[in-house]
Amino acid sequence: MELKNKEDIKPLCPHCSTLLSELWFQKLKGFWGQRYIYFCGSCRKVLGVSHRKGFWMG
Ligand SMILES: [Zn+2]
Repeated sequence: MELKNKEDIKPLCPHCSTLLSELWFQKLKGFWGQRYIYFCGSCRKVLGVSHRKGFWMG
């Protein structure tokens, strides 16, 4: 599989198919520590969770 860098097009939200021109995130704190959840700014469905800011599914 080839990996191609595409900076000129915007990814689509898998839930509402809106262009993800921006990605929203929220910092959560709980017994597990600190987590960042990333979600679509249009439908607000969660796209991923990370324990580090700016790091997908990490
Ligand atoms: Zn969406």
